[in-house]
Amino acid sequence: MFRTVGHDKAVRALTRALDNDGIAHAYLFAGPPQVGKMTLAMDIARAVNCVADEQPNMFGEVEPKPCITCGPCDRIARGLHTDVRVVGLGEDSRGRTQTLISIDQVREVQREASLRPSEGKYRVFVFDRAEYLSQGAATALLKTLEEPPDQVIFILAATDSDRMLPTISSRCQTYKLRPVRQSVIADHLRSEYEAEEEIAEEIARLSEGRVGWAISTVADPSVLEAIEEKITTVESVVRAGLETRFEYAEKLARAFTRDRDAVRDELAVWLEWWRDMMVVKAGLPRYVKHLARLDTFQAGAAKVTVEEVAKAVSAVEETGRRLDRNANARLALDNMMLAMPRIR
Ligand SMILES: [Zn+2]
Repeated sequence: MFRTVGHDKAVRALTRALDNDGIAHAYLFAGPPQVGKMTLAMDIARAVNCVADEQPNMFGEVEPKPCITCGPCDRIARGLHTDVRVVGLGEDSRGRTQTLISIDQVREVQREASLRPSEGKYRVFVFDRAEYLSQGAATALLKTLEEPPDQVIFILAATDSDRMLPTISSRCQTYKLRPVRQSVIADHLRSEYEAEEEIAEEIARLSEGRVGWAISTVADPSVLEAIEEKITTVESVVRAGLETRFEYAEKLARAFTRDRDAVRDELAVWLEWWRDMMVVKAGLPRYVKHLARLDTFQAGAAKVTVEEVAKAVSAVEETGRRLDRNANARLALDNMMLAMPRIR
């Protein structure tokens, strides 16, 4: 059984391909962070290497692949299978997250891909955040995708597939994974994680269709607490004058050199906050994401104009883009602070 939650169309198509020996050499799964791209990739890795019995059991049923329980399925799930490799942004020697997937990483993949599978039927290479392949890495990978070795499957998972070389994406069978319906996520949290109704609904709403996020959050209440904390920070910065705002920008800029994702997460909360404010300004409070803060939004909405909120939203978005383009982080964040109205 696939562990993927939602994405029924992709799962159906891939199951059909698996049943008919029609599995492709290369796939591209594109979609928002934590929407289920890696889970789907691992489902395929398990399905092609699963050794579950294909004979019908005493009830005349054949266990669908992947089975989850056989040796290979179990080892893949635990990251121990030697034929299944995840390549992504690791840490450099100084403990900082790499900003790009390097050509050396791709060369290592090419070397392994030229060998026969060592324990399973297929070697599966999963590129997590494939949009961060360096230019050289992408060019090298393209060569391999043009002449894919037998018994090798490449799966590229990308949040922003537009950033990838079109020549690479055109070599892959592409599935766009969209946010999963809130009700599907809530049901999953209730049935698989025994979450209480109210918690399941709250997490499903905050997840905005990101199943992976919902699952890790239901298992770890500190995630919700951390969001609360970030929102409190956002609110205090919105209330503050320039001096405090610049101090905050400086702190974020420093954090950016160590951990880009942490800063991206923080900007995401900023964006959500201003969007919620916009939604309240538009008189549609039921669409507020951070419902627990509705009172704050309603009080604040009276003190800002729609234009100011719109400007703040685009300032946060533009800052995210600038940081992705390696602009001067401090300058970009200072500009964001300047562009936002002060709500007292
Ligand atoms: Zn299995």
